[in-house]
Amino acid sequence: MTITPLMPVYPRCGVRPVKGDHCHLIDEDGTRYLDFACGIAVNLLGHSHKGLIGAIQQQAATLMHVSNLYGSPQGEALAQKLVDKTFADTVFFTNSGAEAVETAIKTARAYHQHDGNEDRFELITFKNAFHGRTLATISASNQEKMHHGFMPLLAGFKYVEFDDLEAAKAAIGPNTAGFLVEPIQGEGGIRPASLEFMQGLRKLADEHDLMLILDEVQCGVARTGTLYAYEQYGIEPDILATAKGIGGGFPLGACLATEKAARGMVFGTHGSTYGGNPLAMAAGTAVMDAVANDEFLAQVTEKGERIRARLEQFIGNYPELFELVRGKGLMLGLKMKVESRPFFVHLRDNHQLLTVAAGDNTLRILPPLVIGDAEIDEFFDKLSAGAADYQIPETS
Ligand SMILES: *Cc1c(COP(=O)(O)O)cnc(C)c1O
Repeated sequence: MTITPLMPVYPRCGVRPVKGDHCHLIDEDGTRYLDFACGIAVNLLGHSHKGLIGAIQQQAATLMHVSNLYGSPQGEALAQKLVDKTFADTVFFTNSGAEAVETAIKTARAYHQHDGNEDRFELITFKNAFHGRTLATISASNQEKMHHGFMPLLAGFKYVEFDDLEAAKAAIGPNTAGFLVEPIQGEGGIRPASLEFMQGLRKLADEHDLMLILDEVQCGVARTGTLYAYEQYGIEPDILATAKGIGGGFPLGACLATEKAARGMVFGTHGSTYGGNPLAMAAGTAVMDAVANDEFLAQVTEKGERIRARLEQFIGNYPELFELVRGKGLMLGLKMKVESRPFFVHLRDNHQLLTVAAGDNTLRILPPLVIGDAEIDEFFDKLSAGAADYQIPETS
């Protein structure tokens, strides 16, 4: 047998973390890495946050799981926090981002179909988007590398150019149910949508009775300096998918919706065995208590601005390597003039700095939101050393 016990779908690297220590990961051979990848925007409180660990330990010892057939004081409490802090009136908890997006897709379809309008099923989505790896969520993306081998796709998605309002408008037809968009594309290369685009989508949705669904799985939960990124666009969605950071490392996601948008999600239409179980609710509540306040959010904005200013200055020293810096808050992208993947590997293997590669030759910089001056300085030390001794591979 040549197949590995772990199904070989990931190109796993040689780093094998066994322990986390605040903003660092420690490999099984003892090597320490500065973690500016954060499990891809997940560990927003770092790796050894006492509040989060305590909440999970205490809940694990009290009640880990019950069915959604019972009342959920824990779920009601976290849902209420989300409702109080966002546009939403109601919340469905999931275990992952893809499930949160799936729920959002179902909610948008059900909005139209609950009263018999079965022609309204199509979502307009945007090129280079990433919405997850289930069949519906790969179908929502135009990225063929995720489709190959898994045909046929789910019907009902139309792809148009990201940040192109005219294209979005032109795509609206009799079958359109709504828009599904990442306000800041993550996997696509940390590409923030423009203000005009997001406000334009909101206006089109209002004019045509369409659902505006935001996928904030990566950019949500304080990452950009506001609890959700939509706040910075001066709009509110009808439906929003959140996950990654919301559990701080515990698997948790949620679909948020207005009362109107959720009108089709009635008894018996949707469900999840684990979704919203008490252990996940304890983790989510600890994260919300830590991040959903003005002081924490202001710190994210301030640290983001500081890193960004230093990055802008830094890239000036290496005009042959770097093109620009983009993103919001602590969701930053360094767009390179050469292939970004070999540079990301170089930083990881030769300088013990973990970042994330992304589309459009961008390096994603996604630190824990709790970084301090020491980690920021360490990051720039490693990045500078990495740029200074980088040999651009022949192939790029
Ligand atoms: C990661 C991600 C998802 C999928 O989340 P999973 O938890 O991996 O299912 C969906 N949308 C966006 C924008 C993401 O970044």
